[in-house]
Amino acid sequence: MNRLLVVGAGTAGTMVVNRLRRLLDTDEWKITIIDPVKTHYYQPGYLFIPFGMYSKNDVMKARPDFIPCGVELIEAEADVIEPEHNRVKLMDGRILNYDFLVVATGTRTRPEETPGLEGPEWYRSIFDFYSIEGAVALAKHLRSWQGGRLVLNVVENPIKCPVAPLEFIMLADWFFHEQGIRDRVELIYATPLSSAFTKPMASKYLGDILEDKGIKVVPDFLVEHVDPDARKLVHYDETELEYDLLVTVPLNKGDELIARSGLGDELNYIPVDVHTCLSKEHENIFALGDTAALPTSKSGSGAHFAVDCFAENFLRHVDGLEMLSPYDGHTNCFIESGFGKGLLIDFNYDVEPLPGRYPLPGVGPFALLQESEMNHWGKMMFRWMYWNILLKGQELPLPARMSMSGKWHK
Ligand SMILES: Cc1cc2nc3c(=O)[nH]c(=O)nc-3n(C[C@H](O)[C@H](O)[C@H](O)COP(=O)(O)OP(=O)(O)OC[C@H]3O[C@@H](n4cnc5c(N)ncnc54)[C@H](O)[C@@H]3O)c2cc1C
Repeated sequence: MNRLLVVGAGTAGTMVVNRLRRLLDTDEWKITIIDPVKTHYYQPGYLFIPFGMYSKNDVMKARPDFIPCGVELIEAEADVIEPEHNRVKLMDGRILNYDFLVVATGTRTRPEETPGLEGPEWYRSIFDFYSIEGAVALAKHLRSWQGGRLVLNVVENPIKCPVAPLEFIMLADWFFHEQGIRDRVELIYATPLSSAFTKPMASKYLGDILEDKGIKVVPDFLVEHVDPDARKLVHYDETELEYDLLVTVPLNKGDELIARSGLGDELNYIPVDVHTCLSKEHENIFALGDTAALPTSKSGSGAHFAVDCFAENFLRHVDGLEMLSPYDGHTNCFIESGFGKGLLIDFNYDVEPLPGRYPLPGVGPFALLQESEMNHWGKMMFRWMYWNILLKGQELPLPARMSMSGKWHK
């Protein structure tokens, strides 16, 4: 029997085992996946929890429900990967041997790495929404918040779903209008970037929308520490930004397993070939999802397109053949902009988000780089798609690689 071991049963790991269980002969392949957490969380839904649009129960389901028959699920945490022995040691002392390994341990927030974030004010005047605990605590706080200066700060890039902070601040604008207290709330987006978003064209569109909504962008803000008593963010150059309510997106970092195994960069992301996701150092280790050091947005959508290419490539790789299905960094993200509208961006390693229609040229129904109600409904439908199609590794009638048709460009 060949042994395929997948570490991490989040978005990418779950899609991988569903896809490969169908493609690999059960008489020849034993597939095992490990994850210490019993629940699978739909992370894009965290965005809606602070504003009462979703509750905790709307974003969680039992993890085993998404692991197909014929795949062994082990509830355990990987301690260290030993590539020279083709084995993974688990925290509980067990050892799992593999012939091929997929690392899909994602990335998570590290508030403890910014002085002053965690402490007595954590979940009192300082919140995050990138964790289920943070999103739920913030929802409770916002229910009775009377207004003031809300600062949303991204500590450092890269972060997963880099559009989520923009969505948060635009939804906050809508939410406080609904609450009838928008005139008592100042909304500030303090970002380490030099403008609203990473990609220049999208940044211009999004920056204009933020301005129209009366949301102030503070660019190039590199937070050195937070003074929770004085309620100030302090920049490395010692300039200060005061807040009444701080919503932080803390430093994102891959799991310490990667560091302990000597497999990652300084942020615990695994260097891989950008087109195949094969480790640059080990011929039988792939990294998929947020844990891969790829020059594209860390997102569920990017992971899905990468897994599409990976599944085809894996079958060839195990037979010693060249991998012929290169991943091009394709990612697309709905950007909820409040008041029942949203935008959609579609891009890859080489092409930045362009205006146009998606997926059908001229028809859409989604508008690229433009606000529309249909885009909002696309975002809301995405949760159903996630549980019922994407996680289960079903094929979508969308090409894995980005298409230029439907895009308006010079
Ligand atoms: C607020 C928010 C909004 C978002 N919005 C969107 C969106 O609109 N669109 C979009 O495409 N994406 C969005 N994302 C991003 C998306 O959720 C992630 O990019 C996606 O989940 C990445 O999948 P992954 O499998 O790499 O990581 P994850 O899904 O995070 O899974 C990693 C898994 O690895 C497990 N694990 C970690 N360490 C170990 C270990 N040592 N041993 C065993 N298991 C381990 C974890 O328990 C976890 O289950 C959003 C994320 C957030 C937080």
